[in-house]
Amino acid sequence: MLYNDYLKTLNKCPFYDEIHFANQLVADNKTSALIISLAPYHKHHLLIIPKRHLERIVEISDEEMSDIIELQRIGIKILYRLGYSNMSVLVREGENIGKSVKHLHYHIIPNVMIGAENITGGDERSISTEEEILEFIEDMREAMEDLSD
Ligand SMILES: [Zn+2]
Repeated sequence: MLYNDYLKTLNKCPFYDEIHFANQLVADNKTSALIISLAPYHKHHLLIIPKRHLERIVEISDEEMSDIIELQRIGIKILYRLGYSNMSVLVREGENIGKSVKHLHYHIIPNVMIGAENITGGDERSISTEEEILEFIEDMREAMEDLSD
């Protein structure tokens, strides 16, 4: 399914509760979650979301920011483990800059340059299949086994 068609099927925020994104979950802490993107720009594209519905960066509490930074570190270590050496972290503020879901989310995207034409809201992105989601989660779990270094 194309991502744009998927967005039309949503009648509430895709991150409205934790059960709803449980099959995408890689790691979480008290306030935030590291998940795989359902419509990746690139294989192994990760997202960090606050569990509370926030739409603006200025609404993030100190505790949430600290939890987001912790998950950002974990996500980047996972991608290094998976063999990537180049990645971008991206967060969008405002609606007219390619942000398709209002719930605040940080992207961690391997092998994609910010500013490249393919970061425009993703008209051509497709929703991952169940098999792809399971495969990506399995890759993440294996890469997470020892992140101490
Ligand atoms: Zn939300």
